[in-house]
Amino acid sequence: MRLLIMGPQGVGKGTQAELLSKYFNIPAISTGDIFRYNLKNETPLGLEAKAFIDKGLLVPDELTNKIVKDRLAKDDAKNGWVLDGYPRNASQVEALDTILEELGTPLDHAVALNADRQVLIERMKKRAEIEGRADDTPEIIAKRLDVYAHETEPLLAIYKKRGALVEVDGVGEVETISKNIISALK
Ligand code: AMP
Repeated sequence: MRLLIMGPQGVGKGTQAELLSKYFNIPAISTGDIFRYNLKNETPLGLEAKAFIDKGLLVPDELTNKIVKDRLAKDDAKNGWVLDGYPRNASQVEALDTILEELGTPLDHAVALNADRQVLIERMKKRAEIEGRADDTPEIIAKRLDVYAHETEPLLAIYKKRGALVEVDGVGEVETISKNIISALK
């Protein structure tokens, strides 16, 4: 199973990606997590990405696309994956299409989780208290939601047109949402 999990920040993509990963026995690949790992370890990639992440902006496509290309080519991704936080703009959709064509592995579905903005802001405030993420301050949260609305949300229409989009309500119990996603994928 090759899946995208899409939706705004705070909607629960990471949690649902982990549950899908267990259910289908595929790796959950989060570009945000890869960047955070590199930031923490002060790798050249982390240092390059830092200024963008700190401002709530997208890291340049060239860097991001390369990370995804390398990650999807790894052995553990041969039987599928769930990609969380990528693609985030139209050019990343094109890059992903090319990567998947080269690997000869088409995408199965794009899962979109929905929730309204106020619910998202509240969830991210809670997450900030628990995880202490540097980019979960009110200003940066607002910026990231704006970037999502302008650059990422329009991508849902692309996957819908391709007949690949599965839309699920992202508000409610984690287990219920997970069941709804899995039954929508069957
Ligand atoms: P996330 O945890 O997915 O919200 O990602 C945290 C930050 O990492 C984002 O605000 C971006 O700065 C960066 N990032 C993650 N995924 C991408 C992507 N696909 N393209 C560009 N930047 C990304």
